[in-house]
Amino acid sequence: MSVPHRPVVVVGAGPVGLTTALVLARGGVPVTVLESAAQLSTASRASTFHPATLDLLDELGVAARLRGLGREVHEIQWRDLDQRVLHRIRYDALVGRTAHPYRLHAEQSRLTPLLLAALEAYPHAEVCFSSTVFDLRARGDSVRVWTEGPTGLRTPLDAGYVVAADGSRSRARAALGLPSRPTEYPWYALRVVTRTPLDELLPGLAPLTYVRDPRQSFSLLGMPDHWRLVFRVLADVPRRRAVERTEVRALLERALPARAERIEIADAHTYRLAAFALPEFRQGRVLFAGDAAHLTSTAGGMNMNCGLHDAVAWGRALTRVHRGDAGERLLSSVAAERRRALTGKVIPRSEARTAGLDDPVRLRHAMDDIGRVADDPRRTADYLVEASLLDCAPRPQLTH
Ligand SMILES: Cc1cc2nc3c(=O)[nH]c(=O)nc-3n(C[C@H](O)[C@H](O)[C@H](O)COP(=O)(O)OP(=O)(O)OC[C@H]3O[C@@H](n4cnc5c(N)ncnc54)[C@H](O)[C@@H]3O)c2cc1C
Repeated sequence: MSVPHRPVVVVGAGPVGLTTALVLARGGVPVTVLESAAQLSTASRASTFHPATLDLLDELGVAARLRGLGREVHEIQWRDLDQRVLHRIRYDALVGRTAHPYRLHAEQSRLTPLLLAALEAYPHAEVCFSSTVFDLRARGDSVRVWTEGPTGLRTPLDAGYVVAADGSRSRARAALGLPSRPTEYPWYALRVVTRTPLDELLPGLAPLTYVRDPRQSFSLLGMPDHWRLVFRVLADVPRRRAVERTEVRALLERALPARAERIEIADAHTYRLAAFALPEFRQGRVLFAGDAAHLTSTAGGMNMNCGLHDAVAWGRALTRVHRGDAGERLLSSVAAERRRALTGKVIPRSEARTAGLDDPVRLRHAMDDIGRVADDPRRTADYLVEASLLDCAPRPQLTH
C-alpha cells in the first residue's frame, strides 16, 4: 500500500490550526489540515483580539477584514456597582509599540472563514473536513496519521511534522499518551448575552468595563451587535440552576440595579474555567498549539490569542526547517519559548485579573494599584503591553 506523504499535517481547523496552515502556505510549505467537523465551527467562544495578535493577522492579510467585522475598544474602564467610573485607561498609550493600539471585539468564528478563504489561494494547501484523526504513530523520520472519514473509512497519511491544534480534548495528545487533566478553578463562568445597547443605558460605558465591587463583580463586553456580561459562579451552584431565567434576572438586578428590567436576555450559558499546560509542547515530530497545549481562565481573553501566537511561531519555524534554513534545535527552542510565555506570563496574568475579587480588602488594594497605573503614562503603557501579550508574542516581520 502506498501511503501519501505531506511535509506538514495540521490536526484541527480551529483558529489555531488554520493560522498555522496559512503561515506555512504563505512560506511555500505544502500543508494538509484535517478537521473532524463537516464545516467550520460557529460556536460563540473567544471574543477578543489583542494588539499583538492583530499585528500578526495583519501580516497574514486578514486583520483589515476582521476589523470590519468587529468593534474596536480604545478604553478600559473600572466601575463600582453604583456605576461610578473608578478608573479608565486608554490604548493610545501603545501608539508606537504596535500598528493596532486597541483591542478588537469579534467572535473567533468571524476569523476562521477569513483564514479558510485566504488558504484557498494556495494550491499546495488543503483543508479536509469530515476527517477525524484517531491515531498518530512516530515512524523514524515521519509520523503516520490515521484518519476516519464520515463513512467509517480509515486512511493513513505520512507527515514530516504534525501540528496538533485539535483543541482542549486533543486526540493527538491522547494518542501519544500525554497528560491532559486540567486544574479546574473553584468557579465557572456565566455569560449573559443581551442585544440591549448597554452603552445607551449607561452613558459613557466603555466596551470593556470591569465592575469591581465587593457586593458583585463582573465584566461587560461590547460586541458589534450585542453585549456580554460575564460573571463567576461558585462551582457548587448547579449549572442548570445558574442559567434559569429567574436566577439570571435576579443576578442582573444585583449587577445593574434600576436598569436591569430594561435589559432583554437573549441567552445565558456557562463554561468551565481551567488551567493546563502540557509539560512539553513538542513530542518528536508532533508539535502542540492552542488549546491542545494549554488552557487558561478566560479572564483577560488570552488563551486563543496565545494559541494564535503559537501558530505563528510554529508556522515560521517549520517553514525554516522545510527550507533547510534551520534544524530540529529550532523546534525545541520554540517549544520551550512558547511554554515559558504561557506559564510565566499568560496564566499568571489571566489569574491576576480575578484574584481577590471576593475579598474587600484585596479588591480595594487591586483598585488602588489600577489607579496608580492609570495616573502614570509609563505604567499605563507597561500594563497594556502585558495585557496585550506584546512582550511574549512573536514579533511581526512585515515593516509597514
Ligand atoms: C466561552 C469561551 C470564551 C472564550 N473567550 C476567549 C477570549 O475572549 N479570548 C481568548 O483568547 N480565548 C477565549 N476562549 C478560548 C478560545 O475559545 C480557545 O482558546 C480557542 O478556540 C482555541 O483554538 P484552537 O484552534 O486551539 O482550538 P478549537 O477552537 O477548539 O479548535 C479545534 C478544532 O479541532 C477539531 N478537532 C478536534 N478533534 C479532532 C480530531 N480528532 N481530528 C480532527 N479534528 C479535530 C475541532 O472540531 C475544532 O475545529 C474562550 C473559550 C470559551 C469556551
